[in-house]
Amino acid sequence: MENPLWHPFADMGAVDGDRFVITRGSGSYVWDDAGRRYFDATASLWYANFGHGRPEITQAVTAQLEKLDSYNLFGYYANEPALELASRLSSLAPVPGSKVFLASGGGDVVDTAVKIARAHFVHTGQPEKTHIIGRTQGYHGTHGFGTAVGGIPVNAEGFGPMPSGFSHVAYDSVPALEAEILRVGADRVAAFFCEPVIGAGGVLLPPEGYLEAAVEVCRRYGVLFVADCVIAAFGRLGTWFGIDRWAVRPDMVTTAKGLTGGTIPLAALLVSPEVAAPFFTGSAGAPVLRHGATYAGHPVGCAAALATLDIYEKDGLISRGRELEKPLADALAGAADHPLVAEVRAGLGFLAAVELSAEVLAADPGAPGKLQRLVRDEGVLVRPLGKGIAMSPPLVAGDEELDLLAAAIPAALSRLQG
Ligand code: PMP
Repeated sequence: MENPLWHPFADMGAVDGDRFVITRGSGSYVWDDAGRRYFDATASLWYANFGHGRPEITQAVTAQLEKLDSYNLFGYYANEPALELASRLSSLAPVPGSKVFLASGGGDVVDTAVKIARAHFVHTGQPEKTHIIGRTQGYHGTHGFGTAVGGIPVNAEGFGPMPSGFSHVAYDSVPALEAEILRVGADRVAAFFCEPVIGAGGVLLPPEGYLEAAVEVCRRYGVLFVADCVIAAFGRLGTWFGIDRWAVRPDMVTTAKGLTGGTIPLAALLVSPEVAAPFFTGSAGAPVLRHGATYAGHPVGCAAALATLDIYEKDGLISRGRELEKPLADALAGAADHPLVAEVRAGLGFLAAVELSAEVLAADPGAPGKLQRLVRDEGVLVRPLGKGIAMSPPLVAGDEELDLLAAAIPAALSRLQG
């Protein structure tokens, strides 16, 4: 019987009758409603960084619900978990003294970052600096500004006019970024949005030296560098925030997903003291950021985040993203040699993509989806992404799980080959 649930990014005509219902999770594994176990090699949607089913989260969330189940942060209201979380994130932040704006999801903090970038310049006497530059294949969520800054054209199609004042440059070219700043005019460009490793756009690794040079160009022209670390943070690249793997100074850093391991929706935007300065003058009468949502800094989400940070620290999970990058690349060596495969992208952080060859994709554009299904039949969950499949396993995965991946993908490729 048809269920009214409307799934994101789904062909609902095809979904009905074919739903894949996950009912239970523990560690690196989840179970479906038929009781079958799978290695969750995508950590759900890039976020179950410590895996599933940690009792510390249940305890922290339950305790918070019993003490204060909700309260907002508008105006001068605060709650204790939000205050503690802001202090903790700021003390870990790549830019000392960063301010912390809380929200519910990655898209929320992306759109917040666009507004703060523009508002910053309004309040520093450069109101004409409004233009935002994104990158081809970049993904920054599905809110209004995030859709416009994203560089996957199909995601912006069919929704009428996008917000104005956005353009895109090739994701791997610093000269293209500089040329675009000069074309628009440095006095008109507010910010450049950049994922350290492009995630949803296909797991595209930055060329050597790219991030350092891009930050340098932004600095030179007074353009804010916004590191979108919604995927990259909390160990995925082996550091707290992802961008701090490089010796660069971002002006803002977006985080979500791994902040609570996905257990409760929460996101945090780190804003450098310089960018935040107009709003923190130290006396009443400062400009007010007229922005923020009902659930900003929800105490239950913040309690989950504090328990999550404890897990990362106690279990040493943050550095594992780096320790596991070579083992993951090694586990995909068999896939890399397969005749249907054009390229395996791995080796920087605990995420990877297997891209199918142009011939395979030309013969069947639906091949990535089919491959995902075949890998699932082998007991491993991966994601179809454009030209292939992607994975980003929990940071608690070990040899046993990487062996599963190493066996499942070549087996599925051979079945795809027929
Ligand atoms: N930015 C990046 C880099 C992301 O990967 C995502 C989600 N995949 C978002 C923003 C949007 O986050 P959310 O889906 O929580 O709104």
